[in-house]
Amino acid sequence: MGKYAEIIVKIHNLPEDHPFTYRVPDHLEVAVGSRVIVPFGSRRLPGYCVNITSAPGHDDLTKIKEIVRVIDEKPILTKELVKLAAWGAKRFLCAQIDFLEAMIPAGLTAGKSLKAKTLLRAELTETAKIAQPRGEKQKLALSLLAKEGPQTLVALAKRGIGASTVRSLEKYGWVKIEEKKIHRDPLSGIEVAPQAPLPLTKEQSYALERILAENSLQPVLLYGVTGSGKTEVYLQAIAEMMQKGKSSIVLVPEIALTPQMVERFSARFGRRVAVLHSRLSAGERYDEWCRIKNKEALVVIGARSAIFAPVEDLGLIVLDEEHETSYKQEETPRYHARNVAIWRAQQHGAKVVLGSATPSLESFFKAESGAYELIRLSRRIAGRPLPPVEIVDMRQELKDGNKSIFSRTLSKAIKNTLLEGKQAIILLNRRGYATFVLCRECGHVMRCPACNVSLKFHSVEKKLCCHYCDHQEAYPNLCPACGGRYIRHFGTGTQKVEEELLRLFPDARTIRLDADTTTRKGDHQKILQSFKQGKANVLVGTQMVAKGLDFPNVTLVGVITADTALNLPDFRAGERTFQLLTQVAGRAGRGSVDGKVVVQTYTPDHYAILAAKDHDFAAFYREESSKRQELSYPPYSFFVRLLVSSKHEGAVVSACSFLAGFFHGKCAILGPSPCPLERVRGRYRWQLILNGPQLKPLLSIVEAAARDFQSSSFAGSVRLALDVEPQNLL
Ligand code: ADP
Ligand code: ZN
Repeated sequence: MGKYAEIIVKIHNLPEDHPFTYRVPDHLEVAVGSRVIVPFGSRRLPGYCVNITSAPGHDDLTKIKEIVRVIDEKPILTKELVKLAAWGAKRFLCAQIDFLEAMIPAGLTAGKSLKAKTLLRAELTETAKIAQPRGEKQKLALSLLAKEGPQTLVALAKRGIGASTVRSLEKYGWVKIEEKKIHRDPLSGIEVAPQAPLPLTKEQSYALERILAENSLQPVLLYGVTGSGKTEVYLQAIAEMMQKGKSSIVLVPEIALTPQMVERFSARFGRRVAVLHSRLSAGERYDEWCRIKNKEALVVIGARSAIFAPVEDLGLIVLDEEHETSYKQEETPRYHARNVAIWRAQQHGAKVVLGSATPSLESFFKAESGAYELIRLSRRIAGRPLPPVEIVDMRQELKDGNKSIFSRTLSKAIKNTLLEGKQAIILLNRRGYATFVLCRECGHVMRCPACNVSLKFHSVEKKLCCHYCDHQEAYPNLCPACGGRYIRHFGTGTQKVEEELLRLFPDARTIRLDADTTTRKGDHQKILQSFKQGKANVLVGTQMVAKGLDFPNVTLVGVITADTALNLPDFRAGERTFQLLTQVAGRAGRGSVDGKVVVQTYTPDHYAILAAKDHDFAAFYREESSKRQELSYPPYSFFVRLLVSSKHEGAVVSACSFLAGFFHGKCAILGPSPCPLERVRGRYRWQLILNGPQLKPLLSIVEAAARDFQSSSFAGSVRLALDVEPQNLL
């Protein structure tokens, strides 16, 4: 009886997502998780083995083709990861191959194979003492090796000793040449002093005890204010797992932005830490990946995709800052690392810890309903205070004749900070390109009467549109709330803020951190480094400046307009604003001098802003969740977003009505409507959002719709992307 393998092949535009059967020739070793090359039609394509069987479900065995070759020495994926791909494809409505390709180190896709890097190294043998070298070259080689110890052949060649000389010395037995594996180490050059575990506070001890509790495998939501010692709890839980020989995965939102986190882990665990993220070179990634597979590293720290680390004895998964949107991948496969973490933990009987000072509505809702265990760290370590947050009403500024982008309070605070030789961070959050319309006199924002999201201003037609439903209205000349004339669409750039700073404050030395100043690898690090060294005293930037920075000399944080985040046409705008303000406020006063935060806004009474002022998550959660419940929005329901795009606007519109027709009467639909980002790279973008009380039935409806769509006449010219539980609706 022969051996057969079921192979998932990478083919584009194939709606079917099932494996093909191939015969395994006797001379090849193929197992579940192996990558192979198979004949497919007239081509040869890479694929992944997902099953081995002796009885293929095929009528005519003579028609089964043979696997051509195996790509990697050993199976590249574990059985668990292969199973994860099958689950993930159903859960996030994509193909298994999308997941399989997302799991392996970048640089290995498209059938390429990477190898460990080796070097040839020469060293003297015992008999070298009685060597009788011939010629100057041989003499020189022997004396160099005697004086300086083993050398690589490359290094010897640079000093004029060719490989042939070394090889002849080897032949006489005076020298031996060894192949030495070299490890491409992303942490090389980072020196950290070892750090011992800290004695835990009462709250921390309790948290640790619950995380390690063996009788419960419920995920833990570790809700602790910034600086309450969550990281120390993670570290000690990981150490405990190591004792048991188990591995841990720690996810951080954006590893390039959190070098301090990696340092703390290395200080505790040294070489047992592996780092995985997208900015590693292909070689570094591959070597780290191997160290994880061989269990040389028992802690994996990385961004989203590190959730696919090939760990076999998993004990713990931590998602730090679990509310961050970067845990959701915005391209296929559009998975959320939190869901994947929980799935993997179940397979291993491992624990998941979700940590945050501002948990997502989804997670807190689950904790309330008992699906997660809620554990609080309510106090900062050593009783350090959270900085006071002052809210400035920009409507009043205008009434008092101040038309500048800086309020009098913020101006004075900047001036004082610079005088005292301290540093300031100025945040201008301008994500996306959505422009909303706001009255500068009363703070009224134009919103959709049905969907409660802000309306987007379309400059060409001069009208306002809702991006959830099809509501449109004319651009108002006067504010409908107060009758005022200062109703404007909104948007100031970071560059403008920087110019104003330099103009108004002669002592300011500014540095800017945004998408424009960080286009190349390393830019980000350089900017932060020079701010840290005091080469600039004001850091101006987008939400990038809010992330995990720890500069003791920063005593002022200013937010130009909290409203930019508040008025994104997204139902999570309030949640994002609260999280952003809480996070950025946490950057002030981390050193010995107390800090201060100034938040400018046109809506000082908004609950998200008031809650951020008081550092009060509970108050925010109460308000926000009751609004979500009223509208039946997540977490009280589930969204699936269908993103329809094409070069031809007409095709998009008719494809949308085809889809809307399909869903009619089957589930609640928001839209179809143009996306807030209506055109990206020449493609028109529209969306439909499906809303249902349960996820599973919603997924099967969408799957059926997608099948219909693929066999319709639209399939050729219109692209349909499915996004399950979307985090971003732009
Ligand atoms: P979080 O992750 O909640 O922001 P951290 O773990 O970074 O908090 O802790 C904040 C600071 O307090 C860090 O400098 C950390 O070293 C220190 N710290 C944490 N736990 C303890 C402890 N039990 N005793 C003393 N210092 C601690
Ligand atoms: Zn609407």
